Amino acid sequence: MPELPEVETVRRGLEPVLVGRELVDVDIRDGRLTAPADPDAVAHDLRGAVVASVGRRGKYLTIGLDDGRTLVCHLRMTGWFHHVPEVNERPHLRAVFELDDGTFLLYSDQRRFGTMRLIEAGELERFWAGRVGPEPLEDGWTPTSLRIALRGRVAPVKALLLDQRVVAGVGNIYADEALWRARIHPLTPGGRLGPQRVGRLHDAVVDVLERGIDAQGASIDSYRRVDGTLGSMQERFMVFDRTGEPCPRCGNPIVKTRVAQRGTHFCPVCTRPR
Ligand SMILES: [Zn+2]
Repeated sequence: MPELPEVETVRRGLEPVLVGRELVDVDIRDGRLTAPADPDAVAHDLRGAVVASVGRRGKYLTIGLDDGRTLVCHLRMTGWFHHVPEVNERPHLRAVFELDDGTFLLYSDQRRFGTMRLIEAGELERFWAGRVGPEPLEDGWTPTSLRIALRGRVAPVKALLLDQRVVAGVGNIYADEALWRARIHPLTPGGRLGPQRVGRLHDAVVDVLERGIDAQGASIDSYRRVDGTLGSMQERFMVFDRTGEPCPRCGNPIVKTRVAQRGTHFCPVCTRPR
């Protein structure tokens, strides 16, 4: 699933393609994408709109329109935007946006978990409330704010990192990488982490997300950039997807277990036990 670095890379690819462009035609071919809203009604409402901005909130992409409305997109498992000079029919094509420069933005989604919601002007903050917490790459997110979010929590710290209300945009890959970097066992109850370990975890989360953006995301499954090329973060993983391979810090084999129903990779030797 695309996480913050992948979604941010998509955002950076979409921005020069979309900003200032009019959506001259919109075809939404899959009702699941806009549910419960009717896909034809959403397509109709988007036709003629001009894109003012392309933003990101956690793992959501936000396409801001010049009338104040926002198309909020979540790629979920396999959603993918591809900018092309002409529409080429392909499997899993779910939506087509025709731009006023004669090019097209295609949205493909093999597993069909992706979503698009058209939010009315002034309603965006209400949409985020209760869904997404602090942005980890903004100045307001500090070791103290992370410590407050973890205080008293008995759930494993890995599960808490995956909770978008604790910190926005972190998913399975970057949670494993950050915990390894901070030398914290993924099953450690969040509330048991003292200021020192929380400080290390905060810095590690920021560090792995910035590395992920720098590498233009991790292409381990269907994730591609808007121009169709791959990211390279998968070549820089320390623990994720490296079960049985030597830990880069101590040389012992990386182990895979399950936490919060997610495959979790860690080093049982140099990661401090809970
Ligand atoms: Zn190790």
